Amino acid sequence: MNVHLASSSTLEKVPAALRSWLATPRPMLINGKWVQARSGKVFEVQDPATEMHLATVAEGDAADIDDAVRAARNALENGPWGRMSPSARGRLVHRIGDLILEHLDELAQLESLDNGKPFSVARVADVPLSADMFHYMSGWSTKLEGKHIPISGLAAPGQYLSFTRLEPVGVVGQIIPWNFPLLMAAWKLAPALATGCTVVLKVAEETPLSALRLGELLMEAGLPDGVVNIVPGFGETAGAALAAHPGVDKIAFTGSTEVGRLIVQAASRDLRKVSLELGGKSPNIILDDADIDAAIAGATAGIFFNHGQCCNAGSRLYVQEKIFDKVVSGIAANAGNIKLGVGMDPATEMGPLVSQVQYGRVTGYLKAGQEEGARALTGGTRHGERGFFVKPTVLVDTKPDMKVVREEIFGPVLVATPFKDADDGLIAAANDSIYGLAAGVWTRDIAKANQIANRLKAGTVWVNCYHVFDSALPFGGYKQSGWGREMGQAVLSNYLEAKAITSRIA
Ligand code: ADP
Repeated sequence: MNVHLASSSTLEKVPAALRSWLATPRPMLINGKWVQARSGKVFEVQDPATEMHLATVAEGDAADIDDAVRAARNALENGPWGRMSPSARGRLVHRIGDLILEHLDELAQLESLDNGKPFSVARVADVPLSADMFHYMSGWSTKLEGKHIPISGLAAPGQYLSFTRLEPVGVVGQIIPWNFPLLMAAWKLAPALATGCTVVLKVAEETPLSALRLGELLMEAGLPDGVVNIVPGFGETAGAALAAHPGVDKIAFTGSTEVGRLIVQAASRDLRKVSLELGGKSPNIILDDADIDAAIAGATAGIFFNHGQCCNAGSRLYVQEKIFDKVVSGIAANAGNIKLGVGMDPATEMGPLVSQVQYGRVTGYLKAGQEEGARALTGGTRHGERGFFVKPTVLVDTKPDMKVVREEIFGPVLVATPFKDADDGLIAAANDSIYGLAAGVWTRDIAKANQIANRLKAGTVWVNCYHVFDSALPFGGYKQSGWGREMGQAVLSNYLEAKAITSRIA
């Protein structure tokens, strides 16, 4: 478990062109131009593995958001975007996906430096999935079909012709988090562009870099000025200004449930449309007839992938009594073998948490859990002296009312609980959460798996697998995990208005 501490040695691993891009203060994208903040302010971006300076970025606030919203409105109503054919729009969205793949290594390097995740992971997951989102969504541009609807009621048959037309909702404000910076930008931008909307994207203050580089690729792809505006800045200033801006038709947010509530409040004054993809505390259930090795591997990845910084992390493990010790000790052994280090080191399997704040939050939960009586089978503390590293942790001896069981930790912390039978009690325990984002079930009995899956209050259920995402599959939450769905055909309705047009024809 070696942690390499020198930021310079990390940066040496990336090409000179990227080093020089990082060394130049990064402006924001408004109306097709790269501009500084109106206030002239900038903020520092930190490498979470070394706690050293990584880049300087323009700090947008309400004034810049206002400029960006005007640019998006103008691009929607007066620019070439609104007149572009669906086919041309689709080709443009597809080209963005191509450009992402053409810059695979560079984007993965940026993601690793900025977020802390291993380069090897960003290269096979974050970046290709981002490209796929644009490729998948590009096909929808030409398939946004309304319907002919026969009407009866008071009308005589044949008197009217009625149909629906799907139109872009308009100017969309999008606010994204830091856990998958490029992928979250892709999840938001691709469907908005495919449906013909224009966008103001507020990226997370912890991780603005890959989305800013994506902005350069959007312009290279030929996106007209003002169609996508990218404003880095803080949540309480730039984010709050965007959520409350009267010129925005719809807000799409991914982040914590707490901030989701603030977004709804801000948007409620003008009844702005809102979609939310929020937190989770997802149950992962292992029955005693499961393929135990597969379940141990799957539950390990289920919680520790992306250092547990996934809204859908399988953070509450329920294991049938007979196999409980074997399963949790297997997961704990895997956890202990995970190599922590800087993301650019090829040997690294897990990087640091994204920031000092996140590090404080996760270690606070570890302390609270252990004070309340939970026992760490492995981990439970920080790792190394520098960087925001937390050891992958498995907590047992937990009780259902403990904070570590109830609240989203958003870090590499699994809480494991045994259960006797796969009965109503198990379903009640699994559903005993304010969240309902995802769940896992491990069993060789496919009927039982589907019976359980049907009863779980979650937007996604994985059977004998975990973290399987696809651009074509809808993703989102029940309960306080959100409103609406991301990805797949389902996301399109977030960005469309259905207009019913009726003509008298007799
Ligand atoms: P986390 O707490 O894990 O950092 P957040 O939900 O706070 O996640 O952040 C997700 C996104 O929401 C970020 O882009 C952040 O800047 C933004 N944000 C935070 N607070 C607000 C707010 N009051 N209004 C709008 N956006 C916000």
